[in-house]
Amino acid sequence: MLHEEARREVAAACQRLKHDGLVVGTAGNVSVRVGEHVVISPSGVDYEVLRAEHVGVHRLGGEPVEAPLKPSSEMPLHLAVYARTPAEAIVHNHAPASTALSTIVDEVPTSHYYTAMFGGPIRVAPYATFGTEALAEHVAAALDGRLGALMGNHGALTIGRDLKGTYDRLAYLEYVCDVQLRAMTTALPVRTLPAEEIEHVATLLGSYGQSLPEDDAGS
Ligand code: 13P
Ligand code: ZN
Repeated sequence: MLHEEARREVAAACQRLKHDGLVVGTAGNVSVRVGEHVVISPSGVDYEVLRAEHVGVHRLGGEPVEAPLKPSSEMPLHLAVYARTPAEAIVHNHAPASTALSTIVDEVPTSHYYTAMFGGPIRVAPYATFGTEALAEHVAAALDGRLGALMGNHGALTIGRDLKGTYDRLAYLEYVCDVQLRAMTTALPVRTLPAEEIEHVATLLGSYGQSLPEDDAGS
């Protein structure tokens, strides 16, 4: 089977979205780029029963190479993002906080310093019907210089070099949106952070995190 490992990774990420409460039903999709191919979740398949062999392999123009099922309806969006950004992986969902916030603002206010994880203030792409080239265009534009975007009246999306980092970033995006929404519900003014602080944090986050010492790594 072509790109077996990538297909396994995509299926596992879909299952994890369900497990982590980051999707409702089949409202989301996942892909990775492998050379000249895109490995993408099929459309409308329950993530509980989704297996690696159901995940399709397509050319970067969308033509199927090994695809037993219809690909995600957001294939145009995934293809546009691979064409226009350095993304190697994409995760899209309709989690509640990001989706709610996408109906209120044009840009996520910089209330949390995690904004720095996304390369700057997170834009909200204007609404267009799901699966359309118009939506693909809006989202690719909103991702300019960013690793995540909201999709107006629809959901959220993150990109990255690998699927693990891209998935984690989507979880952080939901958190950042949830914090902002909760702050807004107080009706008090929400303090935001200046652009210089977001840039400063971005440099700090570049070296944040550490590996376990050798002895602990396997336990
Ligand atoms: P698919 O099941 O076709 O991937 O669509 C879900 C979705 O999120 C549409 O925007
Ligand atoms: Zn969607």
